[in-house]
Order: sequence, then structure tokens, then C-alpha cells
Amino acid sequence: MASAKPSSGSKPPSGGRRGTRLLDARPPSSLWYGLAFLVVLGLAQAYFLTQTGQSIPYSEFKVLLKDGQVVDVTIGEQMIHGTLKQPAANDPKQLKQFITTRVEDPKLTEELESRGVKYTGEVASRWLMDLMGWLLPLIFLVAIWAFLFRRMSGAEGGIMSFGRSRAKIYADDEVKVKFSDVAGVDEAEDELREIVDFLKNPKKYTSLGGRIPKGALLVGPPGTGKTLLARAVAGEAHVPFFSLSGSEFVEMFVGVGAARIRDLFQQAEAKAPCIVFIDELDALGKTRVQSPLGSHEEREQTLNQLLAEMDGFDSRKGVIIMAATNRPEVLDPALLRPGRFDRQVLVDKPDVKGREAILRIHTKGVKTAANVDVKVVAARTAGFAGADLANLVNEAALLAARNDKTEVEMRDFESAIDRLVAGLEKKRVMSTKEREIVAYHESGHAIVASVLPGLDPVHKISIVQRGFGALGYTLQLPLEDRYLMTKGDLLSQLAVLLGGRTAEEIALGDISTGAQNDLQRATDIARAMVTEFGMSESLGAINYDGHKRARFLDIPIPQERGLYGEETAQKIDAEIKRILTEAHDKARQILTDHRGKLETVTRRLLEVEVMEGDELRQLLGIASTASPATAPSVSA
Ligand code: ADP
Ligand code: MG
Ligand code: ZN
Repeated sequence: MASAKPSSGSKPPSGGRRGTRLLDARPPSSLWYGLAFLVVLGLAQAYFLTQTGQSIPYSEFKVLLKDGQVVDVTIGEQMIHGTLKQPAANDPKQLKQFITTRVEDPKLTEELESRGVKYTGEVASRWLMDLMGWLLPLIFLVAIWAFLFRRMSGAEGGIMSFGRSRAKIYADDEVKVKFSDVAGVDEAEDELREIVDFLKNPKKYTSLGGRIPKGALLVGPPGTGKTLLARAVAGEAHVPFFSLSGSEFVEMFVGVGAARIRDLFQQAEAKAPCIVFIDELDALGKTRVQSPLGSHEEREQTLNQLLAEMDGFDSRKGVIIMAATNRPEVLDPALLRPGRFDRQVLVDKPDVKGREAILRIHTKGVKTAANVDVKVVAARTAGFAGADLANLVNEAALLAARNDKTEVEMRDFESAIDRLVAGLEKKRVMSTKEREIVAYHESGHAIVASVLPGLDPVHKISIVQRGFGALGYTLQLPLEDRYLMTKGDLLSQLAVLLGGRTAEEIALGDISTGAQNDLQRATDIARAMVTEFGMSESLGAINYDGHKRARFLDIPIPQERGLYGEETAQKIDAEIKRILTEAHDKARQILTDHRGKLETVTRRLLEVEVMEGDELRQLLGIASTASPATAPSVSA
């Protein structure tokens, strides 16, 4: 709707013209005229200086001098010219002026004096030499400069044509990608549908006075379909799609990236409603430019410009800014503030159902044999992202073609999986053994959390490897916001945290390194119970660590010690150990009692990879709870 506005519609082109003019290759034409004038002047001067008078040999000059024919002379550095009483007899032009080349003649002045000839020295022609002395190098430099400038800006996409000439490439007016081309990321899709709806019908939202999200940041591991999703949003909404990659902003010259951002937003505004998509946003938040001119100033300028544009943007005009990154941790926090990329959409690796759906999309255009079971392929490709699956289908098709088959068979898929898994090993895809350990571990957390009273209900268990460290997770959602926790709550929470490790002990008779984070958090809680919350009988209700914490549990304790002696320190350590041991015993008790259930949940989890809380409670024979409120707590 903003495209109808004449002012914003007509501004970009004129701005564009001004921009190119400033960076025009040719120096202003008045400079050329000035230079030409000087050269002509110099040549004329030289001509007149040399051509005034008849040229005679020096010997003849001496003869004329002796004859008393010379009236006056002007002695130059190289030439002598002067006036005769009358023109030389053989001179057809009857000139009184003469000129002769100067010869080394020390007695000349003596002679001139004795004959009463008026003589002067001359430096008149020197100025020209001086002028040429600096003018010539200057002309040369200007010529080189003009030449290089033209070279740089002449070619399409040359350095000087940044920002503008690429402009046409940005926009994709009709994106063909639809949500049906994306699978396995249903939650992200749901969140993005709202944006599609807004782009299709902005009035519906703005007439109620609602604030439209300005930006959505797609976060997730590489190859999970972030770029694809962003395009699908544009495709679904039938709006233009302006895209730029963060790495494209990194240029040699300071200010180029900022200019490009400005230009991008200017164009987008003219075409609203539309989507501006910045892929690989982390490149903007990270890269240092290897340039003697700019260092990382360039990056900062570009980033600042982006922030400024986002702030100055009125999202009611219908421009939605989307970005993608697989490294959210390196992003400048300023980008994530409200009014900027305030909405973050997690695009995670697909679970087994998602993988099946993705495989179905990518096998659509492939001739597959009847024996190909996509379900089996999906089950065998745990840890594969969407791009890996697309690659897998392609690889299988290539293998079949190499063997001159007319259809892609199951065997081709199997060899392709083997081949890709070997390649992905470097990217840390979990082995079967590791998956089993993780499944037991997460089941342990989940069972303890479900069996113990007073805890937040389990919302979801997952053994899909996340992009950000954890191999699996158990998500608990509280039913209501908590401001206080009782000692009993904390002890139960400790049992949940230790439940993962305990399940490994019980089921596998061995323990893995996967519990490191659990142990750390459990220890933190136990220490806080003893030293801050006064929950230990032997030490009493004393706060031993003299600092405050913003919210309990979630914030790691700084490694500073309060004011207490060695003896107290030992007592504290003993109390922490006692609390943790009791929690461990409690977890062991629960899991031993539910040994059969532990097995059931683990097997089911290995099968489906992501289990909802309701299914878990069903397996455990526990009544379902009401739907949860906010603030999830996660144990990995
Ligand atoms: P990202 O931007 O997250 O790194 P891309 O969107 O570039 O990943 O994905 C690369 C390709 O992999 C896509 O073009 C598509 O063919 C395939 N792909 C990735 N994720 C999915 C998905 N969820 N559904 C269908 N295809 C996918
Ligand atoms: Mg991408
Ligand atoms: Zn754990």
C-alpha cells in the first residue's frame, strides 16, 4: 500500500542518479579546459620567444657587433637576441630583430660594454620550465587516476558501482517456493504463517492498532531450511523478496555496506508490502575486514546502518525484515532488542516424521522403485538435516544412474546413506550406541520428573541432536509462575537433574560424559540451598555467600567465596555432598521401581525421537495435567 505514495515512489531513482554522478569517473570538464589552456599558453610563449627575429650564427653576431650594428641585446641562458641598427642585407623579411644561439664567450660583456651596447640578462623563459616541472607530473598523475577510476567503475559490478548496479538483483518479484516445499519444521512454519497473513492483509492487523513484528530471526543449524522458509514466506504471501547475504556486505571500502543497506531499504519501501531477507546475519556481526582502509569499522558501520534502518522503519507499511543465522551466539545483542529481530524462530533438525516428510518432497521428482520405503530411510537417517536428506536423494539417484538402472531402488538409498553417514561423521552424527545412551538418559530425567510430586509437568522429551550443544533434552513447563520454591521442590529438582545419569547407571551399568551439565547445575542448586537459602540443618539459617542473585536456579553462581573459615567450608562441602547423595538415592529408587517403564519409554523414544508429555504420561500410567503456562525448564 505504501507503493502508491508518490514521494517514496519517486525518490529512489533520483537519489540513484545523484549517487552515480558523485562517483563519476571523469574529472570535472573545467579542469581539462584549464590544463589545455596552460599547455597552449606555454607552447605559444615558447614559440614567440624563439621566433622573434632572424636567426643568425654566433660568428655573424660577433661581426655585426664589431661593425657597431648592434643596438641592444638580451642575453638568455641559451639564446641571445637583440636589435640591429638596420636589417641585415641578405634578410628578406627585413627584420631588425635577431636571435642567435649563445656560445661560451666570457669576454662578451666586456666587448658589449666597450661598444656601448645596452645589454640585459634574461630569465623570462624560466617560468615556463618551472611550470612544466610540476605540471607534467601532475598531468601524468591525473591521467593515471582517471584511467584507474574508469577501470574500476566501468565494468558491471565494479567497485564504484556498488549499491546501485546490484540493486536489480536483490528483488525476486515472484517466489515460487511454498510452505508445501518445506517439511519437518512445523513449529517454525506455524510462527511464520502469522507473517504471511500480515503481508497478505496488513489492514486487518493495523486497524486494530496492533504492533506488527518488525523482524523475525530464523535460528538453527546449517541446512535445516532457513533460507528455504524465508523464501516460502514470500511465496505464500505473493510479495517481492529482497535478499542479501551478510557476507556480501563485507566490502573493501568503508561505507559501502552501509550504503548498500540504505539502498536496500529504500527500494524495499518503494515495493511494500515485501520481505527483506538478510541471510547469514552472523557475517555482519563478526567479520573483520582485511583492508588497510577500514579494519572492522566497515562492519560496524554496516551494522549500525542496519540498526538505524530497522529503527526508522515503520512496519505498518508492510516491510518485514527476516534474517537467518546458525550462530546466534555471535550476534550483536543490539540486533535482538525489541523492535528489531524481536521474534526468533527456531528451525531445528527434523525428527523421524519430519525426515520422512522431507524425503517425500525430494523424492517427488525421482523415479523410485516399489521397494523403496521412505519410512525406513527416515529411521536410518537420525541427525540428518533437510539439506542432507535432499543430498541423500540426489546421491541415490546418481548411484542408480551409474548402474544403468531405470528406477532408484532401496539398495541405492542404503549405499547413499552409508556414504553420507561416513561424510557426516565429521559433523557429529550420533552413533546407534550414543543414541541409546542419550535415550536412557532423557527417559531417566523424564520419569523422575513425572513421578515426583510438586514438579513442573514434562512437556517434551527429545533425542534429536540440537545445533547448540545438547544431545537431547527434557522440557518441563510450569503450570504457573513460581516466585518461591520450597526445600522439597528443590530436592525433587535435584533428583530430576541426577535422573539422567542414574538411568544410564541402571540400564547400561556405565556412565557417560553427557551428565556434566546436569551435575554442575545440581551442585549449584545444592550449594545455594546450603549457603544462601539456609536449608541445611547442620549449618542453620545463615547466608554464607554475601551476594544477591537475580533469580534462583538459572543463574550460575560466581566463584567467589563468602566470609567463612576453613572449618565452615568443610562443613558446607559435606552438606552439599549429603544433599546430592540423597537426591541420587531418590532418583535411583524411582528408576529401579520403574525399571520396566524406563525400558518402554527409552524404546519408544528411540523410535519417535521426540515425545510429547502426554504420550509419556500415558506410557507411565499417570493422569494428564492441564496445559502449561510459561518459562520452560530444560534438563539436557
Ligand atoms: P539453511 O539456510 O538452513 O542452511 P537451506 O534453506 O539453504 O538451509 O536448505 C538447503 C536445501 O536443503 C534446500 O534448498 C532444500 O532443498 C533442502 N532442505 C533443507 N531443509 C529442508 C526442509 N525442512 N524441507 C525440505 N527441504 C529442505
Ligand atoms: Mg541458508
Ligand atoms: Zn541430562
